[in-house]
Amino acid sequence: MFLKGVPGRPDIAFPRRRKIIQIHGCFWHAHERCAIFRMPKSRTEFWDAKFARNEARDARLEEAARDAGWDVLTLWECELKDEAGLIDELVDFLGPTRANV
Ligand SMILES: [Zn+2]
Repeated sequence: MFLKGVPGRPDIAFPRRRKIIQIHGCFWHAHERCAIFRMPKSRTEFWDAKFARNEARDARLEEAARDAGWDVLTLWECELKDEAGLIDELVDFLGPTRANV
């Protein structure tokens, strides 16, 4: 998805709230201390470099978004299974609905 004026091509954007949600796959983003992520046992140099590049890009995009005045919430693939926790996190991040403002 690409929204004009939203930095970094986020997965989900709420332009009126200036909030962005990124969803990271645990493998591709090398989620630390995560049951899903396992460092591959072969071609470790390739994977180390690949994960380092992904991490640097994640950090750069998040910084660019924050610099442009957007709030960023990063959700991990492994967190999506905990539906109740996920809803709490989203409500916290997005704040009250417009009807309640
Ligand atoms: Zn994870």
